[in-house]
Amino acid sequence: MTDVLSLRAALLDWYDAHARSLPWRAPPGAEAKTDPYRVWLSEVMLQQTTVPHAAPYFERFTTRWPTVADLAAVEDAELMAAWAGLGYYARARNLLACARAVAAEYDGVFPQTEAELLTLPGVGAYTAAAVAAIAFDQPANVVDGNVERVMSRLFAVETPLPAARPELRRLAALFVDEHRPGDWAQALMDLGSGVCRPRSPLCDQCPLAFGCEALKTGTPERYPLKTKKAERPHRRGHAFVLRDGAGRVALVRRPDKGLLGGMAGLPTSDWGGAPEFAPPVDADWRAAGSVEHVFTHFSLTLEVYVAKGEGDFLWTPEEEAAKALPTVFRKALERALGPLSRRERA
Ligand code: SF4
Repeated sequence: MTDVLSLRAALLDWYDAHARSLPWRAPPGAEAKTDPYRVWLSEVMLQQTTVPHAAPYFERFTTRWPTVADLAAVEDAELMAAWAGLGYYARARNLLACARAVAAEYDGVFPQTEAELLTLPGVGAYTAAAVAAIAFDQPANVVDGNVERVMSRLFAVETPLPAARPELRRLAALFVDEHRPGDWAQALMDLGSGVCRPRSPLCDQCPLAFGCEALKTGTPERYPLKTKKAERPHRRGHAFVLRDGAGRVALVRRPDKGLLGGMAGLPTSDWGGAPEFAPPVDADWRAAGSVEHVFTHFSLTLEVYVAKGEGDFLWTPEEEAAKALPTVFRKALERALGPLSRRERA
């Protein structure tokens, strides 16, 4: 049986020596914990992207809006534009709703308990536990995909995901303790992302190797076992890049509900099985190629068309549009306009 106390001590020692330095993180053992606003913002960003991708967004957000009250005062469209490129736009809307709730109901000060944090818009079990542990040093059980992977390997759990989730959560809870709970949560995160990696775990560098059941089997990367997923459906559609001859492009505001809700977008057809060619205005439409994009629940091929024309749209300078659009539309815009927008974004 794996000795939980020894494993815990070994991982905290390793964290003291190897903790990643991150813009939202206090160093190991620091008395002053990280501002909960920064922990919350970083955790929301990191749910959908990697640390290197999220870090510049985090720096920009916290420079522009240094407190949760500053963020709460932002217009929806401004926040959506700043979020562009981070994906999962429903989270951006929840981010704003949460900031406004903290500003209005808690006087701009984040509540400290997991239970209160859970009442905030868009704050789920993982984020509530992460903020409670990291910002307030509370013994919360912070379980994400990384932690599930580490637990499944440490204990060689043979139940496949997602059915294994309650068991993995229970195993993770064995390690939660009053002693350095924030550092423990972050140590597990670092181990999961840098050492106990999904495809090729670096077991020879792992401080937990002495007690890892999966390592004993000789194929630790086999864990966690997974139930086979249904294949992601594929959809097709058309995207229309309408230019006015003065360096501007026609954008539309997408409906609040649904995919990319509330974001700026290019005019498109429906994204169905066999979409009708239905451009937003009559013009001399020219095919500009196609782009591929993968959403959580389906993949999409967009045939891109470009024309000059006029009409009632949100006319936006092309470089500005490239920065403000969600990735799928930015790809379509760049397919039509070439490398100009990429240069601007570099
Ligand atoms: S020994 Fe290998 S599989 Fe086990 S926890 Fe460490 S890195 Fe993961």
